[in-house]
Formats: sequence, structure tokens, C-alpha cells
Amino acid sequence: MNLADACDALAAARRVAVLTGAGVSAESGIPTFRDAQQGLWARFRPEDLASPDAYFRDPALVWEWYAGRYRDVMAATPNAGHDLLTRLEREKEDGFFLATQNVDGLHARAGSGTAGGRLVELHGNLTTARCEVCGQVDALPAPQDFTPPPVCAVCGGRMRPNIVWFGEFLPEAALEAAADAFAAADVALIIGTSGVVYPAAGLAFETLRRGGTVIEINPDQTELTPRLSFSLRETASAGLAALMDAG
Ligand SMILES: [Zn+2]
Repeated sequence: MNLADACDALAAARRVAVLTGAGVSAESGIPTFRDAQQGLWARFRPEDLASPDAYFRDPALVWEWYAGRYRDVMAATPNAGHDLLTRLEREKEDGFFLATQNVDGLHARAGSGTAGGRLVELHGNLTTARCEVCGQVDALPAPQDFTPPPVCAVCGGRMRPNIVWFGEFLPEAALEAAADAFAAADVALIIGTSGVVYPAAGLAFETLRRGGTVIEINPDQTELTPRLSFSLRETASAGLAALMDAG
């Protein structure tokens, strides 16, 4: 398959499933977990800030970390890659599905998934909190008005960051929805993720197994590359532009 074939396949596809990873966020300047561990935070191991044990020991510390990351993402804006995926969703309508490994909420802010069930955030969302008592999920107040921990509007319980931590399982319903969408997809796009991070490889193989086309967009070769239908060695925004504008 060459680029022209890939463009044709995407244009003709009735069902498109997309998985995005850190490469999509990078173009908005979102720091990675490791990049955000500057200054006072450098002395912590990631699991000291992002695990159920850490939160049990010191919820104020964990919330301080996440409040900082929340400020980082709210200072950023969606980029051309996010916007091209909203355009693809408008074209494919209910045939579009987007799963993301990113927790910055930028796909939602760009307008993806406003129709129910088309966007799943596999690792959670930094801009929301979840009640520890009743499970209610709410948006955090604006960064300048936010003093953690947030309190649940429904039951008054303490809320925790709505993030999948080290040692926790990915949300089962979101994983099942993603597996179904990738199995049904005529074309799947794997964008800005290495393929070694669960569940990227599994989702790509769901599509391949049913005879679908899987196109990767990544500046670097990944472990998945040799198994896929076509790979664009591009950033997310440049790769999507090449696939969609030539199609
Ligand atoms: Zn509650």
C-alpha cells in the first residue's frame, strides 16, 4: 500500500477507528509525566504521585501534583491534529470512533466525541475528578478557582483525580467499546503511540484480523510498523493532513 492507496482507503471507509497517544499531545506542548517532574517533584518516583497507595498515604501531595498538571493542560490548546480528527468525525459521523491514551482532555476540548460514545479516554482525564464515594465525574473548576480536593456535588464525598493510576486496570467498558470499534473498522489509524503500550497492538490486530486496513502515523518506526498496512513517518498533524487532504 502506498500513500495514495491509504488516502483512498480512508476516504472510502464507512467505519474508522482511531487510537492516539503522546505524539498528538506533544504538538500542543503538553509535558509528559517525566517532563513535568521538575524542581521539587524531581525527587519523587512516578508511583509516589500516581498510585492508589500514594493517594492513601498523602492525598494532598497527589492532588498538588495533579493540580499542577491540570494548570499545564489548561494553558495549552488543541492543535491541528486534534482539529483534523474532529473534521474526520464530521465526515464519518456514527462511523467514527476515537480512543485516546492521553489524559489532557484536548480531544474533547477540540470538539471530538460530543455525540455520545464516539470518544473514550482510556487512561482518564486530568480536567475532571471522580467521587470516591458515589463515582460521580465532574469537571474541575477553572484553574484560578481550584483548591483541591474537590467535593462531590451529589453526595459531598471527597473526589480523586479521574486518572488510571499505576496498579489500576483500564476501564473495562471503554476497552470493550474500543475493541468493538477496531474490530468493525474498515480503516484504523494508530497515531503518535509506540505500539508497545497496552492496548495499542491489540486494537490494531482486531482490525487486521477482520481484513481492515491499519495506518500508522509516527515520526519514528515502532514495533508495530512491520505488521501494519502502511506507515507515515510524520508528526500527527502532518500525517493526518497528508492522508485527508490528498484523499
Ligand atoms: Zn459523590
